[in-house]
Formats: sequence, structure tokens, C-alpha cells
Amino acid sequence: MKEKIRIVEGDITKQEVDAIVNAANTSLLGGGGVDGAIHRAAGPELLEETRQMGGCPTGEARVSKGYNLPAKWVIHTVGPVWAGGHKNEDNLLANCYRNSLTAAVARGAKTVAFPSISTGAYGFPLERATEIAMRETKRFLENNESLEKIVFVCFGERVLKTYQEVFERIF
Ligand code: ADP
Repeated sequence: MKEKIRIVEGDITKQEVDAIVNAANTSLLGGGGVDGAIHRAAGPELLEETRQMGGCPTGEARVSKGYNLPAKWVIHTVGPVWAGGHKNEDNLLANCYRNSLTAAVARGAKTVAFPSISTGAYGFPLERATEIAMRETKRFLENNESLEKIVFVCFGERVLKTYQEVFERIF
């Protein structure tokens, strides 16, 4: 199962995978960080589609087309805003990974790329978030044979180092 995981430093909008995951907000109307980058790279049709969705609750996922992206699908998931750790943040973040992977499989995606959900503007501690990302992904792969590759796209060296360390511990 370990061989299905890739950890790369880079820009998620450039990933040649079936589906990329967006760390969106509940409005699904675009925003900063990775969300802004995905909307810019996909083009304005993405916003036209997500506007029709009527938002998305924290921890859930919605799927749109990828438009000008190399990826066929964008899975929009909404991570929790970090509020100190006692507002169910861990479970909500785990739900993001589980629901995104479930949505990817439902569309027939075999390769999926994730950003580090909630660890930018939403302030979730990076190492704790990375452990949740890896644990949920591992659990999902143990129960689902159809996914061939999961790429964790790390924006910057600090994220990359953390992902590499946590990967060795969990997988
Ligand atoms: P959130 O609001 O869920 O915290 P952010 O977009 O602020 O989302 O940050 C989530 C992570 O995405 C951070 O590690 C940030 O550095 C990273 N990020 C920003 N732009 C990109 C990109 N183009 N590709 C991949 N990751 C990105």
C-alpha cells in the first residue's frame, strides 16, 4: 500500500491526476490560498459550476469538473478552522479525507492529489493535520482496491519535511 503514496513538493494545479482536492470554504465561491490557485488555473467555468452547488458543510465534499486543469475532476472539501482542538477539528478533518476519497472513487478516479487541508489560513497545526491525512488515507486504501495513486502535494519545504517524516511513521 505504501507504494501507492507519493509525496511531492509543488503546485497542485499542475498535477496530472484524475482528481485534485481543493481546500475550499463553505461558500464554494473561491478564496485565497490553494482555492484561489485552483480557480485561476481552472478558469471561470469552475466558479459557474460551484456557484450552483449552494455551498458545502465542513467535512463534506462536492465534485466539479476540472475545466482547464490537467485533472478531470476537482473535489471541493471544507476543512475545519482550527479553534484550539476541542471543537471536533480532528474528526472534521478526517471526514474531509474520507469523503474526498469516497467521492473520487464514486467518479471512477484512480489517481488523486491532496493539498494540506486546513493548515494554511485555517491554522490547523501541520504535524497533527498530516497524521490525520495519512491515517485516514491508509485506512481508506486498506478497504478500497480501486485507487492506484495518492499524491500529497506539499507547498514549501516545511510541509514536505513534515509529510516525509509522518509518512515513515504511519505507513
Ligand atoms: P485552508 O484554508 O484549508 O487552511 P489554504 O489554501 O490557506 O487552505 O492552505 C492549505 C495548504 O495549501 C497550505 O499548506 C498552503 O501552503 C497550500 N497551498 C497554497 N497554494 C497551493 C498550491 N497552489 N498547491 C498546493 N498547495 C497549496
